[in-house]
Amino acid sequence: MSARVLDGKAVAAAVKSEVAEAVAGLGYSPGLATVLVGDDPASHAYVRGKRRDAEQVGMTSIHHELPATASQGEVAGLVADLNSDDDVDGVLVQLPLPGDLDSEAIVEGIDPRKDVDGLHPFNLGLLTLGRQGLRPCTPSGVLRILDHYEIPTNGQTAVIVGRSFLVGRPLGLLLSAKGADATVTVAHSRTNDLAAVTSKADILVAAAGVIGMITPEHVKPGATVIDVGINRTDQGLVGDVDYEAVADIAGAITPVPGGVGPMTRAMLLSNTLTAAESRRR
Ligand code: NDP
Repeated sequence: MSARVLDGKAVAAAVKSEVAEAVAGLGYSPGLATVLVGDDPASHAYVRGKRRDAEQVGMTSIHHELPATASQGEVAGLVADLNSDDDVDGVLVQLPLPGDLDSEAIVEGIDPRKDVDGLHPFNLGLLTLGRQGLRPCTPSGVLRILDHYEIPTNGQTAVIVGRSFLVGRPLGLLLSAKGADATVTVAHSRTNDLAAVTSKADILVAAAGVIGMITPEHVKPGATVIDVGINRTDQGLVGDVDYEAVADIAGAITPVPGGVGPMTRAMLLSNTLTAAESRRR
């Protein structure tokens, strides 16, 4: 193993203490509302973690649970109530939603100023235009890790494997935006000869959700490898990168767990602070 390990837990802790310090100076406690529908154990665990994080930095966690049988109208009605609640600065609906619920419509119902997941089309539009707005948490967490470890993006070749609206596409926009200035390729399941594409990358981001798909043949020696993948196995969480083998040739690498995952949670707090500051200005 020669790669430097990029410790997402440590960077997330730094983000959290910055947010806590800013919250302490606000004179009020920003409210983060979480909406959990159904009884998926992973979703429950994620929301528990997010609520705990919020309280740790001095925010107020406002939690709502609805049964898996909740109708589209009931979920949308709750979101509308939270939109008009002055104590609520951020609204987070935990995805995926169960059954036939239309998550796109629910997310579109969130007031964009309270869209702390950064997934509302309005905020994704601002991101596309390069204008200020709430950014999706996982992509902004990736940028924050790179920034923390002073890994340059300017002029670098970045390849992202995965083109979802949650991770791959917004990350491509962030990395290619003015200021970050990377040259970005977004690869996906129809990409021809993936290894030929990824092995050109100075910064390689794996966000496909396929266990261990990034092997040494995909990686340029010395590259920075960011593993966004979270895959549940009997042995625990594993990423999209064959960690042991790739760490031998990469210059820097994020582990799973302890890499991008904690950053996603930390950036949610950062977004909630931003939402509170701009709404209550
Ligand atoms: P999606 O399933 O929405 O998207 C996966 C993307 O990867 C698609 O664009 C798909 O291509 C592409 N892909 C799938 N298989 C291959 C392949 N063999 N070769 C090349 N491209 C492929 O997943 P998400 O974006 O939501 O999540 C991706 C991973 O990141 C998951 O493991 C998820 O759990 C994890 N995740 C982690 C977070 C964190 O905080 N660390 C936060 C969010 C997600 P196509 O479009 O052609 O189908």
